[in-house]
Amino acid sequence: ASMRKTRIKRTKTVCTYCGVGCSFEIWTKDRKILKVEPQAEAPVNGISTCVKGKFGWDFVNSEERLTKPLIRRGDEFVEATWEEALSLVASRLTEIKETHGPDAIGYIASSKCTNEENYLFQKFARAVMGTNNVDNCSRYCQSPATSGLMRTVGIGGDSGTIEDLQLTDLVIVIGANPAESHPVLATRIKRAHKLHGQKLAVIDLRKHELAERADLFIHPKPGTDLILLSALTKYIIDQGWHDQAFIQARVNGYEQYVASLDKFTLEYAEEKTGISKAEMVSLATMIHEAKSMCICWAMGVTQHMGGTDTSTAISNLLLVTGNYGRPGTGAYPLRGHNNVQGACDFGTMPAWFPGYEPVENDQVRARYEQAWGVTLPKKPGMNNHQMVEGITRGKIKAMYLFGEDMALVDSNSNHVEEAFGQLEFFVVQDVFFSRTARYADVILPAAPSLEKEGTFTNTERRIQRLYQVFEPLGESKPDWQIFQELANLLGANWHYAHPGEIMAEAARLAPIFAGVSYERLEGWNSQLWPVLPDGTSTPLLFTERFGFADGKARLVPVDWTPPFEPGADYDIHLNNGRLLEHFHEGNLTYRSAGITHKVPEPWVEISPELAKERQLQDGALVRLTSPYGEVEVRALVTDNVSGHELYLTMNTPDERKAVNRLTSSYHDKTTHTPNYKEMSVKLEVLESS
Ligand code: SF4
Repeated sequence: ASMRKTRIKRTKTVCTYCGVGCSFEIWTKDRKILKVEPQAEAPVNGISTCVKGKFGWDFVNSEERLTKPLIRRGDEFVEATWEEALSLVASRLTEIKETHGPDAIGYIASSKCTNEENYLFQKFARAVMGTNNVDNCSRYCQSPATSGLMRTVGIGGDSGTIEDLQLTDLVIVIGANPAESHPVLATRIKRAHKLHGQKLAVIDLRKHELAERADLFIHPKPGTDLILLSALTKYIIDQGWHDQAFIQARVNGYEQYVASLDKFTLEYAEEKTGISKAEMVSLATMIHEAKSMCICWAMGVTQHMGGTDTSTAISNLLLVTGNYGRPGTGAYPLRGHNNVQGACDFGTMPAWFPGYEPVENDQVRARYEQAWGVTLPKKPGMNNHQMVEGITRGKIKAMYLFGEDMALVDSNSNHVEEAFGQLEFFVVQDVFFSRTARYADVILPAAPSLEKEGTFTNTERRIQRLYQVFEPLGESKPDWQIFQELANLLGANWHYAHPGEIMAEAARLAPIFAGVSYERLEGWNSQLWPVLPDGTSTPLLFTERFGFADGKARLVPVDWTPPFEPGADYDIHLNNGRLLEHFHEGNLTYRSAGITHKVPEPWVEISPELAKERQLQDGALVRLTSPYGEVEVRALVTDNVSGHELYLTMNTPDERKAVNRLTSSYHDKTTHTPNYKEMSVKLEVLESS
């Protein structure tokens, strides 16, 4: 027995799926995963996990893993050595840079990869290749939340910790489905609601699990959240329920903001949102009676043409009611991917260096120029939406993308794939042959999280280390090593022996990471940024100052942008989102047998009323058509949805069922986040049961 014991290896890792950031031990023997065992020491989850963290790891040993570099020869891919593949990448990128300039190349980073890898990738784009054209998939989800918070409170992260959510009197969840998208965080809300009398209000189109449990569930017309939030805020001020002392001491712009609310009367809001005055008054009263309030939101808010403005309206409401800077208060934009927070924090964004310092700021740039020994571009680069449009306009000639299946996850995917087909040169670096890889000229095999070291940052700004469980499969390599080899082929002189050295460099350069170090992050330890030079974390933001020079927050007037409607032919609203079992595009979870056995394919939820009207039953096959494409999926008749509103689960690598065949290229005015949640479709019944 003792021999058997010694051959079992236990390694701490951090979940590769959602932004909650659960950590646990993985028990392995050779390349076999024996079990996932959460430990009480895990700072976020303790002994909890969800089904993905517990069972979603089979993909690591999948036969479909990329294990050798591939080079395109005509319509085929042939295996190549690393040397051949990387020298081809280096020579083609150099050629294109010399002919068309550094800004003719776009770089797409990965929210699934580590902080260190994202740091190195933006350094590669900026310092080696000379462009700020670098972005990550937060552009598809939470950029509007970040912008809304940057405008009002100056820092784009969750105000407090997940644990703090249990301290508040009132949680409002708007446009988010935490029970499926952030399961372990949702259990914290459920527990506080059940055991400590915490109040819960849910604003959503769909009656999901938290909505069922809520004290108040409000279902506004699609795309009208900003009106609802502004009317609530105005009503609260009109009643004299706002926090005058807080506003006076800590907030700028009050008078001007109040004037901007004039039109948001309860009557106007009732007409536009379909919510009765009585319901709005009861929510306003709940807010008034609560001594503390947190607002959680996600893509139901952000993925609209006015996503930034609605996120701003959320922050305005928190400011007016004095709900920042105390435990159990504040803004909680719920980050989707395991490391979407970290990808942004570590600078894979076109206008920001690591730690949200602007590339345009001469002093900041000088600091990086000195450290990296190069001259850096001043002009902010293109975001991923602009890169796709840049291809069609002949401005972007080449792209380098890692750990992101942009052909599936970007909106209006038929259009995106057409654009990728026009690239002169395309490098795709991933664990699997993704949909996007079809358009590549060179495919580089990368190692997933279990095969490397590094750190992830979860939704509450918590940085945690992951340790290597397995050697990289075949000839695959950790992404950071690939960047380093390529950078050195292009004349850089990088010698990072371990991701800890990359983190040490980021900590020297970006003030918000000043005291971050691998020693302090050892084992189950974690740090929440901003981290002071002595290593002190900041679990709760804004206790004394907001993130602006004068330390004060700003109330920012915003107006409503009506949602995009494709025309009268498209008579049914289509909502979409995650489900518990699968993650994102499904490239990993659909390769985990236990999960796929349980949930083999996506479906569309149809209300009992609509099912009756169209004479269809559970299991019917329907075709949904938008101006941009069509999908065929099975129907689930359920009162989760109502009337002429559908809900399509978005996770699938099966392109014939993927929601982005239907979505448009319209986007949030401020951040260019696609308006995934604004689409109407036609519904045809192909088989009625
Ligand atoms: Fe935790 Fe999210 Fe992973 Fe589930 S998917 S185990 S909630 S981090």
